[in-house]
Amino acid sequence: MSGARIETGTTVTGFRIQTDRVLGVTTTAGKIDAENVVIAAGPLSGPLGKLAGLDLPLATVRRQKLIMPDVPQVPAGAPMTIDFETGAHWRPTGTGAHALWTAPAPAEPPLDDVPTSASFAFGLLDPGSDHALARVVPFWKEVWASSRLQWWLQAGQYTYTPDRRPLLGPTHIAGLAVNTGYSGHGIMGSIGGSRRAVDAISGKLRAVDNPFGPDRPMKSRAFDVL
Ligand SMILES: Cc1cc2nc3c(=O)[nH]c(=O)nc-3n(C[C@H](O)[C@H](O)[C@H](O)COP(=O)(O)OP(=O)(O)OC[C@H]3O[C@@H](n4cnc5c(N)ncnc54)[C@H](O)[C@@H]3O)c2cc1C
Repeated sequence: MSGARIETGTTVTGFRIQTDRVLGVTTTAGKIDAENVVIAAGPLSGPLGKLAGLDLPLATVRRQKLIMPDVPQVPAGAPMTIDFETGAHWRPTGTGAHALWTAPAPAEPPLDDVPTSASFAFGLLDPGSDHALARVVPFWKEVWASSRLQWWLQAGQYTYTPDRRPLLGPTHIAGLAVNTGYSGHGIMGSIGGSRRAVDAISGKLRAVDNPFGPDRPMKSRAFDVL
């Protein structure tokens, strides 16, 4: 156990800075002093960094998820199934399924509440679509034809860095570090990534041995399919 205190429902509104060193943060619940402040605000890391004079190389892109609570055609034991040509994929959940596709989308400003669009669902469900789930698994045609089908959408934003790798560790501003930019893989990558960020801040991991240092030179890579 780290013994760290967690304040929920509290927003960081700024940084306490003295002669180029971050000493803590201001929040909606008052000031907090800290030897090290870590920006780990997902898509909102960019605007938060700007409040401290930090220009992070982050772009935010909308990503959606189609949730279908009840789809009798989906076998409960089916594996996560990916159409490798399009990146469209689905997996069973409870009595239904979740489906995703990383639609080509422009970067947009970071948002707290990200809107959804029905065309995302139709693109996966309509067998006539070029990335229909039915391209690989024919029962999705039956799902599309069924009058029982219910679905809803959720949306968030991927926080991309130019090389699609996270930013982990101290920045050039003393007392300020980052743990962000997971580029769509933060659920899988954050466990190892956070450990590395902690080690980089504490000095256990030397800056020269940290391939995810926030000031590293970066080569641009194309968007991932998933
Ligand atoms: C549709 C979709 C599907 C995805 N699927 C996968 C997947 O299958 N596998 C995978 O690995 N990843 C997936 N991801 C990506 C994954 O969700 C992210 O990489 C991950 O959540 C990033 O974690 P984070 O902690 O950096 O940011 P977040 O999870 O965004 O957490 C940041 C937190 O900071 C808080 N915050 C922001 N500003 C402030 C402030 N000023 N003060 C205080 N708190 C603040 C926010 O409220 C939030 O709680 C998906 C993302 C989307 C949108």
